[in-house]
Amino acid sequence: MAKGQINVQTENIFPIIKQFLYSDQEIFLRELVSNAVDATQKLKTMGNLGELEGEVGDTTIEIKIDEKKKTLTILDKGIGMTEEEVDKYINQIAFSSAEEFVEKYKDKASIIGHFGLGFYSSFMVADKVEIFTKSHKKDAKAVRWECDGSPNYTLEEDSIQKERGTAIVLHISDDAKEYLEKHRIESLLEKYCKFMPVSIKFGTKEETIQEKTGKKDKDGKEETKEKKVTKDNIINNPEPAWVKMPADLKDEDYKAFYRELYPMNFQESLFHIHLNVDYPFNLTGILYFPKLKNNLEVQKDKIQLYSNQVFVTDSVEGIVPDFLTLLHGVIDSPDIPLNVSRSYLQSDGNVKKISNYISKKVADKLNELFKNDRKSFEEKWDDIKIFIEYGMLSDEKFADKAKKFSLYKNVDGAYYTFEEYLEKIKAAQIDKDKKTVVLYTTNKEEQYSYISAAKDKGYDVLEMDTPLTAHLVGKLEQQEENVTFTRVDGDTIDQLIKKDEDIPSKLTENDEKKLKPVIEEVLPKDKFTVNFVSLSEKDQPMTITQAEFMRRMKDMSAVGGGGMMGMGNLPDAYDLKVNANHPLISKILNEKDANKQKEMAKQAADLAMLSQNLLKGEELSKFIKRSVELI
Ligand code: ADP
Repeated sequence: MAKGQINVQTENIFPIIKQFLYSDQEIFLRELVSNAVDATQKLKTMGNLGELEGEVGDTTIEIKIDEKKKTLTILDKGIGMTEEEVDKYINQIAFSSAEEFVEKYKDKASIIGHFGLGFYSSFMVADKVEIFTKSHKKDAKAVRWECDGSPNYTLEEDSIQKERGTAIVLHISDDAKEYLEKHRIESLLEKYCKFMPVSIKFGTKEETIQEKTGKKDKDGKEETKEKKVTKDNIINNPEPAWVKMPADLKDEDYKAFYRELYPMNFQESLFHIHLNVDYPFNLTGILYFPKLKNNLEVQKDKIQLYSNQVFVTDSVEGIVPDFLTLLHGVIDSPDIPLNVSRSYLQSDGNVKKISNYISKKVADKLNELFKNDRKSFEEKWDDIKIFIEYGMLSDEKFADKAKKFSLYKNVDGAYYTFEEYLEKIKAAQIDKDKKTVVLYTTNKEEQYSYISAAKDKGYDVLEMDTPLTAHLVGKLEQQEENVTFTRVDGDTIDQLIKKDEDIPSKLTENDEKKLKPVIEEVLPKDKFTVNFVSLSEKDQPMTITQAEFMRRMKDMSAVGGGGMMGMGNLPDAYDLKVNANHPLISKILNEKDANKQKEMAKQAADLAMLSQNLLKGEELSKFIKRSVELI
């Protein structure tokens, strides 16, 4: 028997290991099971190359809990280790790399998935760790290694491990008792090991099967009866869809994998992209487009990052462009550096390449769907538009590609590319500066009266109703010099799109001077500017509009970004446009009774406020009362 001291370089790292990844303590299980997987795969490779003495045989990895002994065991039938190998790999290499890891990261909590601490992460949860191992090598003797969380270890021959392979026995410490609970381990295996490439057994489970009785029933059919059988509880799928070739998968297989990935999500995805590259970096994966609601809230189901089928994290920020985090699915790449801090990631060359690649693939897929079946693409549009808008605003290359397939829907439900749309409206919707005016609504119901006014004049209105609309509109205006966007209630239609013949005003300057204070008096203080416009008799007597610029600033600051943070408290400022040619306006002007005049002005102004959804509370109930009296 050999006793010895692990070659400690600076300070004893065991207490540091114990404390330091406390929040991510659970990763010890991933580290140990992936070691078991590695040892098994090495064995299989040797088997395939004919370098193995004896058979590969069953290679199922097993996880066991012994509550009485307070142990958790990870058992594999992999290549195992000889005594020299334990000394070399565990006492020396693994220890010094753990030491290096701790030195480097003890102050940095944010490295991805806490990869790289390896075997010694077991001391986060165990007071004592034993290794029982027997090498695949001919005549190798079984050995036992033990370490109690101090640099002292024991290494001796021991015949307990009879078969080839390794058992790691963790004597769970009192403050980590949760790792002796079946459910806790089950959920950790589900999280980290669900798609590891070697079968992993955790206990057994009962299943009901239909067994033939050998008899036939009166119709001559074979009779069956239910039978309960006990089976190994295999917790993983060693061959998940993303490691297969796309050609070998049908649509159902992708759907089934989506359910496997997110068992609690009962929605189907809209479509998927299978990623598969091996040069200049290695990347596989499947991305799914979920039905997105009209918001950018953080998704419950997130993209999961794997490294060779080992789960790393489901927070892929910094690894893929932000807008792609709205998607679902799996990315597996051993080329993403995992033991670096997140802030470092963005500057990593490989990560940049990977991120660009994914973004390009997504754009290509969308373009292909658009080209191959436009109708079905249009049907999906409302569920993916927020994603595409986000992409267009945050990724120039994506924006460039998206010009071809991003759609704009008008209030009648017809879809156009931007180019098609400009073509459609350019004859009728030109302002005095010869710019094409795109009218849009952010809320079909609330802005109904403005929409119908625009349609009456033969104009078209787009529906643009995501939180990103204001940003997108700004971007499109930058991109297309001769186009300007105005929300349909941004100004009266005739001001927006000037016709050649101006309608003459029925009011004189003097009339306007008299009328202005009357109207100002009935409006809420400091919010409204009254001005007179010369519209048709058929237009509304009074209209409230809000300057496009101001409103857009407010909208943008509401979702953040654009350097507009903290401007959420901009004051509301409205224009009240009085239609000089409406008979009601002349009537108010000519009313001799001051009280009656005021009442009429108030009623007309309230009506305008009502159609802009600005009449609320007491003002609204007063208005209703007054209206009833008038009737
Ligand atoms: P890493 O797995 O990153 O190399 P670890 O600290 O986890 O680092 O493991 C160190 C070494 O110990 C491994 O490289 C391997 O040689 C050996 N080892 C660990 N676990 C096993 C096992 N279950 N079977 C065989 N060898 C193992």
